[in-house]
Amino acid sequence: MRAAVEAAKADVCALHAYLPAAELVAWTSGNVSARVPGADLMVIKPSGLEYADLTPASMVVCDLYGNRVEGDYAPSSDTGSHAYVYRHRPDVNGVVHTHSPYATSWAARAEAIPCCLTAIADEFGGDIPVGPFALIGDEAIGEGIVETLEGSNSPAVLMRNHGVFTIGASARAAVKAAVMVEDAARTVHLARLLGPVTRLDDADIASLHDRYTNVYGQKGAK
Ligand SMILES: [Zn+2]
Repeated sequence: MRAAVEAAKADVCALHAYLPAAELVAWTSGNVSARVPGADLMVIKPSGLEYADLTPASMVVCDLYGNRVEGDYAPSSDTGSHAYVYRHRPDVNGVVHTHSPYATSWAARAEAIPCCLTAIADEFGGDIPVGPFALIGDEAIGEGIVETLEGSNSPAVLMRNHGVFTIGASARAAVKAAVMVEDAARTVHLARLLGPVTRLDDADIASLHDRYTNVYGQKGAK
């Protein structure tokens, strides 16, 4: 158990480096969490610390109701919502939140990103949906995430008037989804500047998503 907690702290700390590197976050906004395998625990970013100052030891360990069980700092203000996702989605082992600018501009308009590119079909299996507005601080955002992604292939949701939440079978997969949703949002934004976009057919989306999910890449890679 100790080893699993320490490994999760190191993993979550290291994964945070992707957020500023991919220009998904400003100042201290954004956070990554991971479920601790085999325990009803999660590891999440401390609230308000700058990315450059994050260390494995500064990560916060919480139970799946968002109560801190280990760590010197208060956990991220989004902790209750991450915890809600872990309680309701046993298949999810990582959650990421950002206000990445292009994707968040779609959230500001409460507009789903249409599945108009093969890359979106591959990664998201359809339109990237919009979730409800919810206030920050308790589990309300988590409820909106779970409700919106129920029955969706998308690992990303654009929470109305707020920003991006992504889920994954690992924290790394959730970080990848956060990078990819921003990329999709930017490209479709650029396309729309010069004209309308055409959504792919559902059958083609299903075929692309299936190939990408089951065939693409190196066997055994995550
Ligand atoms: Zn936020």
